[in-house]
Amino acid sequence: MKKILLACGLLTASFVVNAQQEISYEVSFPNAVHHEAQISMTIPNVPTGALKVRMSRSSPGRYATHEFGKNVYNLKATDQNGKVLNFKLTAGDVYEITSPTKTVKVTYTLFGNWIDGTYAGFDETHAHMNIPATFAFPIGMDARPRTVKFNYADKQNWKVATQLKPTGKDTYYAPNFQYFMDSPIEIAAYKTASWEVKNPDGKIQTIHLVSHSNDEQSTIDNYAEMLKKMVTEQVAVWGELPNFDYGNYYFLHDVLPEYAGDGMEHRNSTVIVQRTPKISGYESNLLGTFSHEFFHAWNVERLRPKTLEPFNFEHSNVSDGLWLAEGFTQYYGNLLLARAGFRTPENAVQGFNGIVNSVLNSPGAINFSPIQASQYAVFADAGVAIDQRNMGNIFTSYYTYGAGVALALDLRLRSEFKLTLDDYMRALWKAHGKPEIAYTMSDLEKVLAQLTKN
Ligand SMILES: [Zn+2]
Repeated sequence: MKKILLACGLLTASFVVNAQQEISYEVSFPNAVHHEAQISMTIPNVPTGALKVRMSRSSPGRYATHEFGKNVYNLKATDQNGKVLNFKLTAGDVYEITSPTKTVKVTYTLFGNWIDGTYAGFDETHAHMNIPATFAFPIGMDARPRTVKFNYADKQNWKVATQLKPTGKDTYYAPNFQYFMDSPIEIAAYKTASWEVKNPDGKIQTIHLVSHSNDEQSTIDNYAEMLKKMVTEQVAVWGELPNFDYGNYYFLHDVLPEYAGDGMEHRNSTVIVQRTPKISGYESNLLGTFSHEFFHAWNVERLRPKTLEPFNFEHSNVSDGLWLAEGFTQYYGNLLLARAGFRTPENAVQGFNGIVNSVLNSPGAINFSPIQASQYAVFADAGVAIDQRNMGNIFTSYYTYGAGVALALDLRLRSEFKLTLDDYMRALWKAHGKPEIAYTMSDLEKVLAQLTKN
């Protein structure tokens, strides 16, 4: 009893500390018709000295540097009573408040009209938010928890979908900066279907399909049944589902031809934007992205290259491991659709042919290694350049290149060691993924050597 009381006391104490530290955002959409959102950020307990607030320049799962600050305007800083605080721009997207008060409130307008996994988009049908594209943040306060409250009472049947923890009254919680930045949000009149998956240890978790599309509920239910089969094959490779942070995983799905099209993985969710008129009639074509992104829940979200840690929001990390993180995911994305019965063996072999041909016939793959291809992602992964580059000769996508490595390794393990690539993935999961110990290139070699005893 005493112990319990003490624990309660500690919990209350830590709650008070957190509440004093908590950075709180509020978002409303008074001008969604012109693709604007209105955002405020309140920072309590600001330390003395200048306070720097900035927008991110990178986004988890995207490997080139972006400039999210370009869509921010009307930025103001005030104290808690609304008294204006002066700031200066020290970079295009860095606002330095020279004499901050104990509590600082920053407000700004954000423009967003690009529906994909990287940017933000607002209109009368939804608010689609990738966090780094949407939320400014104070520098040096990464350990502080965050809350975000959405005001959308004026919208028709909107509901919030996100991996963030709901705390009631349209407010959501993230334990720290890194978690917040990894948690995309869709607010729309979406349809949803969900199912439970039981892990070998007995833990039951729920997977949700959240679809903002022009489909009937029966289409969503049927599509969720298809995803269920795909998920079962993925779990069979790894031996278990990852531990999702609040026991839930979300497919955040947006479907309309005028959207940008994308798939972006996160720890407990993925954003999938597809450019078909609806899901109905296109189910089979849409599955590939779902399979790829869900495989990432293990490969890259938890089985993670050391070079991506900690994720740098001011400049993209350069990574040596994307050939495995993206390439192996690409290989399995297609292979598992065949195992789930959604592709014929002939389809799968055709896919392998394509991989082999493009790797063998590409000067980029002849002259550069998969590690070098991975490192070039900082320029290639939706990196914007208007000058001409020598891409054809120096770069082969780490998706294709890595898928080629996966295929070659799978065939070699099968033919020489009576093993399969599944055995290697499970060994990596055990050594690095499940315990979340980020890997180096030599770790990958070590696990392979132990597995093959070679
Ligand atoms: Zn991917």
